[in-house]
Amino acid sequence: MARIVVIGAGVGGLAAAARLAVTGHEVTVLERADTVGGKLGRHRHDTPEGSWHFDTGPSLVTLPQVFHDLFEATGAKLDEYLDLVPLDPIVRHVFPGGGPALDSCADPAEFTARVGAAFGDRAAADWQRLWRRAGRVWAASHRNVLRRTVDSPRDLAALAWRLGDLAAIGPGRSLRGLGRRHLSDPRLRMLLDRYATYTGADPRRAPAALVAVPYAELAYGGWYLRGGLATLADALLSRCLDLGVVVRTGATVTRIDAAGGRVHGVRLAGVAAPVPADVVVANVDALTVYRDLLPTPRRLAALTDRSLAGFVLLLGVRGDSGLAHHTVFFPRDHDAEFDAVFGDPGRGVRARPAPDPTVFVTVADDPAVRPAGHEAWFVLVNAARHGTVAGAVDWRRPGLADAYADRILDVLAERGVDVRDRLVFREIRTPADLDAATGAPGGAIYGTAGGLLRPANRGPVAGLWLVGGSSHPGGGLPMVTLSAEIVADAIGPAW
Ligand SMILES: Cc1cc2nc3c(=O)[nH]c(=O)nc-3n(C[C@H](O)[C@H](O)[C@H](O)COP(=O)(O)OP(=O)(O)OC[C@H]3O[C@@H](n4cnc5c(N)ncnc54)[C@H](O)[C@@H]3O)c2cc1C
Repeated sequence: MARIVVIGAGVGGLAAAARLAVTGHEVTVLERADTVGGKLGRHRHDTPEGSWHFDTGPSLVTLPQVFHDLFEATGAKLDEYLDLVPLDPIVRHVFPGGGPALDSCADPAEFTARVGAAFGDRAAADWQRLWRRAGRVWAASHRNVLRRTVDSPRDLAALAWRLGDLAAIGPGRSLRGLGRRHLSDPRLRMLLDRYATYTGADPRRAPAALVAVPYAELAYGGWYLRGGLATLADALLSRCLDLGVVVRTGATVTRIDAAGGRVHGVRLAGVAAPVPADVVVANVDALTVYRDLLPTPRRLAALTDRSLAGFVLLLGVRGDSGLAHHTVFFPRDHDAEFDAVFGDPGRGVRARPAPDPTVFVTVADDPAVRPAGHEAWFVLVNAARHGTVAGAVDWRRPGLADAYADRILDVLAERGVDVRDRLVFREIRTPADLDAATGAPGGAIYGTAGGLLRPANRGPVAGLWLVGGSSHPGGGLPMVTLSAEIVADAIGPAW
């Protein structure tokens, strides 16, 4: 039996803690915030109309099997804890220019038919061809990358890719390039581009392999959790506690003790005595681990582009808007948005709040989250991360957040959904707020952006492991949960 300290109670940290505890280890989770869940956050707002409950992070569950597997592995049934609601449409896509919307769904034949009905036969045939290729990429990455440790470029190169895998993955090609090659309709290209942002990346630079992301969503479905997605954090906490994991909130780790090339424990803010450990599993951003928590700062070899962040509005809205659960309102000029969100110092483009961004609106038809006769809106816009360096925006600049919130409500009105005179209240969450709440540097949602090679799960000193969205295999709830499985398997059982 090892004494294991998990730093951070995000989904990755809790999932790893539960898996390690069930295999006989003595596990303590140390979380700096007052609550668990990390980016899977929630917020309650009370008004005379009643209580409003918002998810402040994820709004879509994909690959539910990953969560079923997790609960099963820890001796429980997911359905006893969570109420998974399949979505159709998964997302309603509204394009500029007022043409037909496109509703995504989990039935590939039905989705192709919807593409055909909205954009014509050629678009449907294009999509079918891309879909076949996406399926091959998904199978290859699932087999080779998503369920095992990948520590270095050499590891990645040495994987047993079949020739057909490599042809499908198209190494060296961007997701944008793949869309250009396969999709003649600009609206479908926009739809494909958007999936790069699900990993924090710019589609013009993200690898074509990310075509596996829409495949996973559209092949296995998109789900809501009744009561809000944060119920997943409650369920994971409950599993951990049942398995004897000690979870301490309000406990900020300031240092990983690692003399002689292996971990010995961690230090907590305001506490003199170290917390001893044989193994440390860090669920904090990989950048924080390497730069701030190790006794000697180290360079993170795989650290390439930082991920984008998000600007969020939580809106209390009177009446019924008739919106789908998820609606994406695309802009006229997608590239102008990516230029603003990522900046490009090489071309003299500074990062800034995109004046005409894609707007993602979530309105759950769930009486548990809003007063009767009202709606709780979660509005998400891709945003540059917080900071004062190139490629970042200082979201603390006085007046900026309010002015940008006004702008987003105007953009929604321009795209046909005007809620400005139906607002009961609005709250704003900038990338700086996400940084403060979860310790994600700059509020970058996914750590590093995009590629197959992320910071390795194996840390740079013996006994140190990394789980979570900034490490392999990547961000998003299912990937983070898979990272916990990879790490728990690598550490092995206590017996
Ligand atoms: C706005 C938004 C929308 C999203 N939408 C989706 C979606 O629809 N679907 C989806 O699958 N994913 C989505 N994601 C991504 C998803 O939320 C994350 O990938 C996932 O929750 C990250 O989990 P994690 O395990 O990496 O830990 P994190 O959530 O990053 O948690 C890390 C934890 O470590 C704690 N911590 C940090 N520093 C310390 C320290 N020094 N000591 C102790 N504790 C510390 C933090 O407080 C935090 O609780 C979204 C994220 C955001 C922000």
